[in-house]
Amino acid sequence: MALIVQKYGGTSVGTVERINAVADRVKRYVDQGDQVVVVVSAMSGETNRLLSLAAEISSEPSNREMDVLLSTGEQVTIAMLSLALDAKQVPAKSYLGSQVKIVTDDAHSKARIKAIDSEAIVADLASGKVAVVAGFQGVDEKGNITTLGRGGSDTTAVAIAAALNADECQIYTDVDGVYTTDPRVVDGARRLDSITFEEMLEMASLGSKVLQIRAVEFAGKYQVPLRVLSSFEEGEGTLISIEKNADMEAPLVSGIAFNRDEARLVVRGVPDTPGVAYKVIGPVSEANVEVDVIVQNVAADGTTDLTFTVHRNDINKARAVTELVAGELNARHVAVDENICKVSLVGVGMRSHAGIASQMFKTLADVGINIELITTSEIKISVVIEEKFMELAVRSLHTAFGLDAEAQ
Ligand code: ASP
Ligand code: MG
Repeated sequence: MALIVQKYGGTSVGTVERINAVADRVKRYVDQGDQVVVVVSAMSGETNRLLSLAAEISSEPSNREMDVLLSTGEQVTIAMLSLALDAKQVPAKSYLGSQVKIVTDDAHSKARIKAIDSEAIVADLASGKVAVVAGFQGVDEKGNITTLGRGGSDTTAVAIAAALNADECQIYTDVDGVYTTDPRVVDGARRLDSITFEEMLEMASLGSKVLQIRAVEFAGKYQVPLRVLSSFEEGEGTLISIEKNADMEAPLVSGIAFNRDEARLVVRGVPDTPGVAYKVIGPVSEANVEVDVIVQNVAADGTTDLTFTVHRNDINKARAVTELVAGELNARHVAVDENICKVSLVGVGMRSHAGIASQMFKTLADVGINIELITTSEIKISVVIEEKFMELAVRSLHTAFGLDAEAQ
C-alpha cells in the first residue's frame, strides 16, 4: 500500500470521456490498496477561455478578480472527477484550495504556498476516500482566492505530496515521460527512465516544458519523488529523484536542451577598466531584464567587447538601456542579434569527467557550426550558435553522445 498523489493536466481531463478514463485509472490504484489524492487542472483550453472573456471586459483587470475567475476552471474538474469516481463506486470528495486549506501569500496571479493543512485529506484517506483537489489555487490569510501562476497545478500536487509525505507524486500528461531531447527535433530521442532533480531543472529551464519549474524545485527541496507519465498509454514514465537508477550504467550526458528565446547584445569598444561590466549590466538588471550568458573578451588595445544575452521579449528594453550606457562610456557600437539559439548538454555524469566540452566542440566543428559563446556549470555546457543551425547541432550531439534510440 502506498500513498500516491496523482496530478492530471488539462488535456487529461479535457472531455467527459477522458475524465472517466482518469477515474478508471484512479480506481485501479484504489483497488490495489493505495491511498490516492488527485489534483486536477482545468479542462484544456478553459483557463485561456476565461482569460479572453476577461479581456473582453477590461484591459486592466484586477488581479484579485482574475483569480476568482480563473480558479473556476478547476472547480469544474474536481466536481466532475468526483462524480465519475462515485459512479464507479469509488468514494471521493472534492476540495477547493480554500477547503483543504492551501494557504498562500497574497500575490494574486503568482501566489506562493505558505502552508497546507492536510488534516481533512488525511481523514478522508483513512476512511477509504479519494480526495480530489483543485490545482493552481489557494487562499490567502484574509480568505481571498489566489492562483499560483500558469501551470500551477504541478506545484499544488508536489506541495500536497510533500505535506502528506507521499510515496510518490505522479504527474500525468500528454507525453509519456522526459526525453533525452525534443522528439520533434530528433527522431531517435529516447524516454529517460530516471533523471535527477538537478538535471530536470536544467532541462526545464532550457525549454523542456514537461513540468513547471517551480514544481521541480519544490520536489527537490522536499525530496518528493516525482514521476512524469502519460495518461493515455501505459508505461513507467520518467522518475525524477535525488539519484539516478543505481543499477543503470549512467551515461555522462542525460539530455540535450535548447531554446530560441534569447537574443544577444555586443557592446564593442568599452574601456577595459574596473567597473565597466557593472556599468553595463547594472542598468540592464535595474530595468528588470534578466541577463543570461555574459562574456567579456581580453583587451588588446585598452578596450574590450562585452557580450550578453537576454530574453527576446526584452530585447528592445535591453537595447535602449545598453545604448544609453554605451554612449556614456564612449563605446564604439552596440550590436544586436536575435537569430541565435542556445544548445546545452545536461548531465550529472559530467561532474566527474573531463573532455565532454571538447567532444562537444569537435562534434559541432565537424558539421561546420561556429560557436559564438560558451558557458558551463557543473552539470551543463551551453553554447550559443546561429539559430539556423539549431536542429543540426542538437541532432549531431544527440548521436555523438550516444543518446540515439538505435545506439541502445
Ligand atoms: N489551469 C491552469 C493553467 O492552465 C493551471 C494548470 O493547468 O496547471 O495554467
Ligand atoms: Mg497545464
